[in-house]
Amino acid sequence: MKPINGFYGEFGGAFIPEMLYPNVRELEKEYQYIIDSEDFQKEFRSLLRDYVGRPTPLYFSKNLSEKYQTNIYLKREDLNHTGAHKINNTIGQILLAKRVGKKRIIAETGAGQHGVATATACALVGMECSVFMGAVDIDRQAPNVQRMKLLGAKVIPATSGSQTLKDATNEAIREWINNPLDTHYIIGSVVGPHPYPDMVAQFQSIISEEIKNQLFDQTGKEAPDHVIACVGGGSNAIGAFYHFIDNDITQLIAVEAAGHGVQTGKTAATIALGKKGIIHGSQTFLMQTEDGQIVEPHSISAGLDYPGIGPIHAYLSESKKAKIVSISDQEAIEAGIFLSRTEGIIPALESAHALAYLEKENFGKEEIVVVNLSGRGDKDMVTYEKYI
Ligand SMILES: *Cc1c(COP(=O)(O)O)cnc(C)c1O
Repeated sequence: MKPINGFYGEFGGAFIPEMLYPNVRELEKEYQYIIDSEDFQKEFRSLLRDYVGRPTPLYFSKNLSEKYQTNIYLKREDLNHTGAHKINNTIGQILLAKRVGKKRIIAETGAGQHGVATATACALVGMECSVFMGAVDIDRQAPNVQRMKLLGAKVIPATSGSQTLKDATNEAIREWINNPLDTHYIIGSVVGPHPYPDMVAQFQSIISEEIKNQLFDQTGKEAPDHVIACVGGGSNAIGAFYHFIDNDITQLIAVEAAGHGVQTGKTAATIALGKKGIIHGSQTFLMQTEDGQIVEPHSISAGLDYPGIGPIHAYLSESKKAKIVSISDQEAIEAGIFLSRTEGIIPALESAHALAYLEKENFGKEEIVVVNLSGRGDKDMVTYEKYI
């Protein structure tokens, strides 16, 4: 799934201010060569194994399989160091940043998961780290703010707009414009200008690489019939889809957050609303008013609460290579509580959206369904508690 001149069909590109050209061009010129080098792969793979804890298990869930009368496997990204898939990307990007000679890292974060994964990677390699976070999110996500600080990162409040993720991203981009030479911006999902979506997708593709091998070991089949993953920007989903995109067997199902419902105005179901535009440097679908103002998204899970979506997913949707569905706050909560009580696994509320989709379709008795469990639910206890 490679972009052509930075585009996936009509989506993607690099719509950036002139001040960022040198930085983005440098990345564009170097990233593939570095990622493909033996030296990089050796260091990346060994950290994924010994530091992150990969491969994560592909777990056959007997209880869910019985309930839904099919064969359900959970890809356990919740067991990664720092509790989610995000660390696959931050480790990859920091090794790349080191190789292009950067001294300093900036990042944006919403719920704080990407901020923690970035601060972790910076501590590991000894780089200075500043994380931009909406002032509202800083109040809502205190434990992750404390973690970032303990890890040695500076947390900088974004006080513009709605003081949430998109504002933090705007301020990180502004900071990057002011310090283009020594600073690398670690974007947390498959969003932003080319080459970010492609670069992040490659780092996360380890997820489907492992699924393929593990499924073969466990069942003799290399390709599942269905892969289900939640989508905020789309990085865990593309990671779980990557090696199955061009086969004729696997149906790819991306689950957006419907919030209170797609038509209620309190939603994050970007593709369902279907408006094209440019956000954070790339052309994609985004939530906007008639005159192009970004609409505030809503989801019960902070990690899905983003008004855009990666250009790869916009393309997978338009080309019908993936099925895009949505799940409400309430359905996600119920699925999260259900998994906790039937399997003893407390999922992140983001991942609970993918699980909830199991209620929506009847899969065949012989079919194999893989659900990507993108993260663990410890961070969501305050929300869960209101429903139990
Ligand atoms: C950040 C996050 C997401 C959403 O981001 P994607 O880029 O869409 O994967 C999903 N699940 C968890 C656990 C997260 O932390």
